[in-house]
Amino acid sequence: MSVAEVFESMAYGPAPEAADAALQWIADHEPLGLFIDGQWQQPLGGERLDVINPATGGKLTSVAQAGAEDVNAAVSAALRAFDAWSALSGHARARYLYALARQLQRHARLFAVLESLDNGKPIRESRDIDIPLVARHLYYHAGWAQLMAEQFPGYGPLGVVGQIIPWNFPLLMLAWKVAPALAMGNTVVLKPAEFTPLTALLFAEIVERAGLPPGVINVVTGDSRSGELIVGHPDVSKIAFTGSTEVGRIIRRETAGAGKRLSLELGGKSPFLVFDDADLDSVVEGLVDAIWFNQGQVCCAGSRLLVQESIEERLLDKVRARMEKLRIGDPLDKAVDIGAIVAPVQLRKIQELVTQGVAEGAVMWQPSWACPTDGYFFPPTLFTNVAPATTIAQVEIFGPVLVSMSFRSPSEAVALANNTSYGLAASVWSENINLALDVARQIKAGTIWVNSTNLFDASSGFGGYRESGFGREGGKEGLHEYLRWIGGGKEDNPVVPRSTRHEAEDDQAGIDVLPAIDRTPKMYIGGKQVRPDSGYSRLVYERGGDIAGEVGEGNRKDLRNAVEAAHKAASWADGTAHNRAQILYYVAENLAVRDREFAARLISTTGASADEAVREVETSVERLFTYAAWADKYDGPIHRPPIRGLALGVPEPIGVMALVCPDESPLLAFVSLVAPAIAMGNTVVAVPSEAHPLSATDLYQVLETSDVPAGVVNIVTGRRDVLARTLAEHDDVSSIWYFGEAEGARAVELASAGNMKRTWVFSQPCNWYGGWAAQCEEFLRESTQVKNIWVPYGA
Ligand code: NAD
Repeated sequence: MSVAEVFESMAYGPAPEAADAALQWIADHEPLGLFIDGQWQQPLGGERLDVINPATGGKLTSVAQAGAEDVNAAVSAALRAFDAWSALSGHARARYLYALARQLQRHARLFAVLESLDNGKPIRESRDIDIPLVARHLYYHAGWAQLMAEQFPGYGPLGVVGQIIPWNFPLLMLAWKVAPALAMGNTVVLKPAEFTPLTALLFAEIVERAGLPPGVINVVTGDSRSGELIVGHPDVSKIAFTGSTEVGRIIRRETAGAGKRLSLELGGKSPFLVFDDADLDSVVEGLVDAIWFNQGQVCCAGSRLLVQESIEERLLDKVRARMEKLRIGDPLDKAVDIGAIVAPVQLRKIQELVTQGVAEGAVMWQPSWACPTDGYFFPPTLFTNVAPATTIAQVEIFGPVLVSMSFRSPSEAVALANNTSYGLAASVWSENINLALDVARQIKAGTIWVNSTNLFDASSGFGGYRESGFGREGGKEGLHEYLRWIGGGKEDNPVVPRSTRHEAEDDQAGIDVLPAIDRTPKMYIGGKQVRPDSGYSRLVYERGGDIAGEVGEGNRKDLRNAVEAAHKAASWADGTAHNRAQILYYVAENLAVRDREFAARLISTTGASADEAVREVETSVERLFTYAAWADKYDGPIHRPPIRGLALGVPEPIGVMALVCPDESPLLAFVSLVAPAIAMGNTVVAVPSEAHPLSATDLYQVLETSDVPAGVVNIVTGRRDVLARTLAEHDDVSSIWYFGEAEGARAVELASAGNMKRTWVFSQPCNWYGGWAAQCEEFLRESTQVKNIWVPYGA
């Protein structure tokens, strides 16, 4: 064909990227082993897994299936390496991460080609998106290693972290996990997905070349069995998992009570909202990136098109015209838009869901052209006439399938957008910035893109709301997933010693210890004092064994009412932070007015000395002040990712939080839990100390007189572990904090898997006066989830 003829037809010719170097790399390294303690080892069990090229169905090579002995060896190596690695200066770790970034860039094309061969994604994407983002993550976190001592005083690494990743962005997910973990001084055992292990092994090679100490990064290949071994290993301090919600739930249950930290980046069904004033041509290109990027195998794929009814037909016509022009084929062809589906099992899953969509009455449309017949391909697919409750509108398809629904008003759009159990991401398209930002605020998702989609950067944390998981990767917030408080932490601060009560001391302080008045403190639900549904009360004793009073024996029904009341009070989050600060100051003021009464209660119930009791009340007042101060200051960062625009990291309230209080310091601990949660705009159901609940029930009178709106704080008394478990099972509770015993902590983590609520559990008494438990930012962080709103600009 002559050049003139090419100009005549403008047809694409083949533009293949050579695979020789990548295939040679594979050949040179066969049989591919496990990277443990800086050495390449073959699996002791001898089992191997085939690695297939999804574009051809042909075998590329095989990798090792790590068994128990291999995983043990990897964890031991990581444990041995931990002390020295975490003791290195941040600057030294920064140099290593920098070296990894450099190495990666030097071998960028090898990585990109190997990734496309293994995963089936177009080379255009692996070369221009995945690999540059990997480099960016390594550089960015080299910076955080450098700044660690200054920016995170009092914090240290967790230890050995187990990292388990999926197949859709094999190297990128590795970087999202490895970079922050190493920067903060942890050591790593990483397991890539069984379908896509190759770039992780090439990465291990550059780890070796960059001279990282043996054991700092270990890469073990294998299927779910190897993953389970990592999850269950007692020397692993944290599991960082990215994958399906189903497996996330299994891991939540497996790790319940094991004292392991956990972050879960799970599935999604992200909405792509188009308002009638949007620039429709940009929208169409946005949709291509939202749902046909990486064959739609993207956790945050814009898989639900929600379009305003008045422009629906016009937009869908444009979308179909664009779909007709998409090019599917060999992932190594540089002019291909859509590559291959990762594996036959995934292809089958897509086919089944599409068949189900048709059976449920939706209308399917696909382009006229046919897919290649070698390998695993699926055409871009559009569903219209989709009812919001049908399977294809609710379930993650994880393929190039777009379902379209329409709305009339912004509020209907928000309702539809929030109508799944997920909350990973959303795109909002409108030329009206007021509307776009207002809708962004109302959508329950961890990332919102305004007039854009699928933008990622190391500076901006990524992660889910609701059943899309918890924890963030990227940004400063992502580093906390790999840190714990160590400086003067609770480990170093045993519970405050309680001396027995001395009448003389009481007299000295001039505090009257009044005899108990016959009164039954009630529960506090929806701003009302209510009797327990059970009709039972429990006795509460004084230190000396006398009866101090009675409190209601809360049950499932009381908790249900309390959660409902907390839900109804959700507009607490919409008020200004200034208003919340004012109310917290007011609570402090009213508590201070009644300080003697509260101190007397502590003396009689806990046996605290007068000094200790006064100190507890005073510290509670001070803590309320502290969180009042924070209420309007805990703002998020503004990121400047490498686009023309900004990403706004907005800490948002989580929703309804359940706070299960410890027995020690019953007033101060209660205040220390409730104040940060409500300061950040959450509404709470609090279970006060089981042994000493009266300080908390006394407090509702203070709340009532301090303008705290009804339902913002609900108090249910009773047996801690029974109530905690019910709260952990409750689907309308978004987060639970539990301070109690190990068995109760385990039960809470286990039961929380139902709706993937966030948990924060402790089974050791804390010192609520100083050190860790007085560290406000820990509590504020656990009271919020960061939403990143990307706002590109340019006329
Ligand atoms: P998957 O859950 O099947 O597997 C993920 C990883 O977990 C693999 O390495 C697998 O071997 C391992 N694994 C499986 N069962 C295990 C077990 N019982 N114990 C320990 N490890 C186990 O997911 P997938 O099919 O590989 O990936 C697709 C899913 O990942 C989608 O749901 C997608 O939305 C999600 N995803 C989420 C994000 C995010 O950041 N939220 C990013 C990418 C992918």
